[in-house]
Amino acid sequence: MSVDNSATTPSRDRYTKTFTPNIKLGVSSCLLGEHVRYDGGHKHNAYIVGTLSDYFTFESFCPEMAIGLGVPRPAIHLVKQSNDDIRCVGVKDSRIDVTEQLVECTDSQKSWHESLCGYILKKDSPSCGMERVKLYTNNQPRREGVGIYAGQLIKNLPYLPVEEEGRLGDARLRENFIQRVYVLYRWKSCVSQGLTPSILMNFHSQHKLIIMSRDQNKARTLGHLVAQVTKDSLDNVANQYINELMITLKQVASVGNHVNVLQHIQGYLKRQLDAADKAELCETLEQYRFGNLPLIVPITLLKHHFRKAPNEFINSSYYMNPYPAEMKLLNSL
Ligand code: SF4
Repeated sequence: MSVDNSATTPSRDRYTKTFTPNIKLGVSSCLLGEHVRYDGGHKHNAYIVGTLSDYFTFESFCPEMAIGLGVPRPAIHLVKQSNDDIRCVGVKDSRIDVTEQLVECTDSQKSWHESLCGYILKKDSPSCGMERVKLYTNNQPRREGVGIYAGQLIKNLPYLPVEEEGRLGDARLRENFIQRVYVLYRWKSCVSQGLTPSILMNFHSQHKLIIMSRDQNKARTLGHLVAQVTKDSLDNVANQYINELMITLKQVASVGNHVNVLQHIQGYLKRQLDAADKAELCETLEQYRFGNLPLIVPITLLKHHFRKAPNEFINSSYYMNPYPAEMKLLNSL
């Protein structure tokens, strides 16, 4: 089956700070400065409110408020019982048990969650924490719990990009999360336009290099999956494809995988580059491999060469243009 190149996902040229699509992210309310914490306080996050708000539309939610706990409220925490059951109970009064209420609250938000392209959660919370939440066994805490709301959200929608505000401070985790958000946004745009086998194959072609940066074998198997799609199998294949794609993209791309992808891209220029250009590119890749240059440097050099010698596949790929350049997510060493 041939790829219909007229069937495209949204143009990457749209991704600028001044013209950004409406990408919806769920956010723990307290991170936006809302006074919803048990003690009436908040956990305003300057990066989310001051920087990410230029690119995303936030929809805030506090599960503890949603189940009617109010402000102020008794503090709650996670406790592992003797039968290994994990409960979310009051710190001072363990008869207060809101576990089921939090699970039901999460499930009741499923259609809203399905409308999102990502979710930023508050770390350490027995409701919102994504990982390493204090879990008490015989009054001894261990950092091995998952907040009840966060756990049920991830269970219901394993493909949804979810991250904690604390982990967004890590440049590689931040880049990985934002990239997944944009991939899911483009997928949702395709679905809302009406997915066809051609659009699916084109979507895969545009994201193949991004997948290769995580897992080359997965890029191949997903390629085989979409190559066999028919109108009758489209729904099933599309569901399988997006789930496997988004789970694959949770892996942070290694430097070695990026180098492999960059060398693969360089291969499209082998007839256009002279010996000096090739030597410069190889040297830049080696400097990136050894941590002396950020990823943006070899990408900028490659883009410079492709401006002079355009290539349809590279031009349509999102690998070198995954989100607005102004976000500067590839500039860190
Ligand atoms: S961490 Fe979650 S439950 Fe706690 S105050 Fe923030 S939004 Fe509400």
